[in-house]
Amino acid sequence: MAATDTPRTRITWDYAPAPESPDHVRLRDSYGLFIGGAFVDPRDGQRVPSINPATEEPVAEVAFGGAQDVAAAVEAARAAQPRWAALPGRERAKYVFRIARLIQERARELAIVESLDGGKPIRESRDVDIPLAAAHFFHYAGWADKLRYGVAGRETAPYGVVGQVVPWNFPLLMAAWKLAPALACGNTSVLKPAETTPLTALLLAEICQEAELPDGVVNIVPGDGTTGAAVVRSDVDKVAFTGSTAVGKDIQAALAGRGVGLTLELGGKSANVIFEDAALDQAVEGIVQGIFFNQGHVCCAGSRLLIQESVADEVTAKLWDRMRLLRVGDPLDKNTDVGAINSAEQLERIEALVEAGVEEGAVRRSVACDLPERGWWFAPTIFTEVAPAHRIAVEEIFGPVVSVLTFRTQAEAIENANNSRYGLAAGIWTDKGSKAFEVARALKAGVIWQNTYNKFDPTAAFGGYKESGFGREGGAAGLRPYLRVS
Ligand code: NAD
Repeated sequence: MAATDTPRTRITWDYAPAPESPDHVRLRDSYGLFIGGAFVDPRDGQRVPSINPATEEPVAEVAFGGAQDVAAAVEAARAAQPRWAALPGRERAKYVFRIARLIQERARELAIVESLDGGKPIRESRDVDIPLAAAHFFHYAGWADKLRYGVAGRETAPYGVVGQVVPWNFPLLMAAWKLAPALACGNTSVLKPAETTPLTALLLAEICQEAELPDGVVNIVPGDGTTGAAVVRSDVDKVAFTGSTAVGKDIQAALAGRGVGLTLELGGKSANVIFEDAALDQAVEGIVQGIFFNQGHVCCAGSRLLIQESVADEVTAKLWDRMRLLRVGDPLDKNTDVGAINSAEQLERIEALVEAGVEEGAVRRSVACDLPERGWWFAPTIFTEVAPAHRIAVEEIFGPVVSVLTFRTQAEAIENANNSRYGLAAGIWTDKGSKAFEVARALKAGVIWQNTYNKFDPTAAFGGYKESGFGREGGAAGLRPYLRVS
């Protein structure tokens, strides 16, 4: 029997179901667009159901905005902007702080809705997404009256009206990354949530009302790519986009020559580098966290696993053992590690790339698990015998799939890690501090973790190199994209 097939324990036992109850969630049946401080009917948009990816059942109906709706939202933001910018920083801070407190107050409800609408495990929405969203608002509330300190004492002015387009993988958190610095700096916003996950952004709209944020400071217009394209092409002063590199390129082309500010947070194919002197058991936990967190729907996922050849078999065997313990299923169950894939379309993309990996000759192993009959699911998967030119080593899969490559020397590790058109993040696992610093300096990646992975903090700047985009979110660096500095 191969080492990887050895049962970890003779005792077979299982967890009892531990579902979080959605009973106290107060969702409306139907949501309008949030424009000028009120929920309104779409002018030229439509109403569509938002689907629970774990059951394929509708959660609530949501209005999608058309071009006229986007124009109305921009108008509302434009009208509100001078008074918002004229408020003393400490007054703006109070509103941003209030939003943070209200997110905390409604944390349980927000976490459940995030899992219902997007498919992520409740443990992650409860312990990561929602607390970090609140932390972002708290952090930028603190900056609102200290903006000059964030830009080396120079004069600052807000951009004006910002158009913000976010993806579906961290819906509320991405909205917080966008809105918190924009508001602190005196901008007003038109935010477009992703088509498959608009609900927590709409609850955030309610929170803005509860916080008595002046009307028009935040406007939320859900919709698909057409709505996003309308936001980008509207009369905004700055665009902040998080999403795929293909759409990022389209936006950059659309804005060329218009003098509109732009930041792009795009895709990645991040290297997680395991040296032979690393604490291997800890590294295995880091690998799991790096690629299976949020079903691998993470821009900075450690999807390219580079292992030093001398320990490659050992690490791969330990990883496979650990992967077999992952619990895939009901996102609302507190024991679930890997939830539902966000949409049928995303599942198709994952399946197509995994098929390409097999066709190109890599060796696939997927964890045998009972996947629910309804909904969209993909079992945690590892590819070995991967060559650097294989599509699964080059393209972003955005699913629970890790590709293993090996290296012999430090120089080769650096070369392989940088051999990507992306440059968003990387992980380095080693016992030697000097080696970690040396390698980190040589890597072209915006965020580099040492002996950990996927750790986020509102005080730390996040952003990419190369085709992973430009501009930084988080910390003092995250103020710069929302200020004109003279
Ligand atoms: P996507 O680019 O398809 O969509 C992102 C958002 O853009 C959605 O709201 C969508 O409706 C909108 N959109 C689509 N077409 C548009 C257009 N032509 N003009 C304007 N807006 C448009 O990406 P996705 O599949 O939703 O998200 C996954 C991608 O996001 C991955 O590539 C991932 O790496 C990336 N991402 C990056 C970060 C980061 O911080 N770098 C964070 C999260 C996700």
